[in-house]
Amino acid sequence: MIQTNRIERYQAIFKGLKVDGKQVIGEMCSCGHTRFDHQDHFSIGHGKCLVKDCICGQFTWQSWELA
Ligand SMILES: [Zn+2]
Ligand SMILES: [Zn+2]
Repeated sequence: MIQTNRIERYQAIFKGLKVDGKQVIGEMCSCGHTRFDHQDHFSIGHGKCLVKDCICGQFTWQSWELA
């Protein structure tokens, strides 16, 4: 998979989505890493965390990542 395509698909998920007037650019997991740092599962970044030494087994929504 070409990495730039993944970035574009990830950004497309949050396109036009605003919270408190700010553009949503991603989602944070309870492990402290972004959804983008997680393995693709049924949806982008919903699998296990790919950050080295992180034991997170599945993305768990914690908060919005705002621009
Ligand atoms: Zn993590
Ligand atoms: Zn995680």
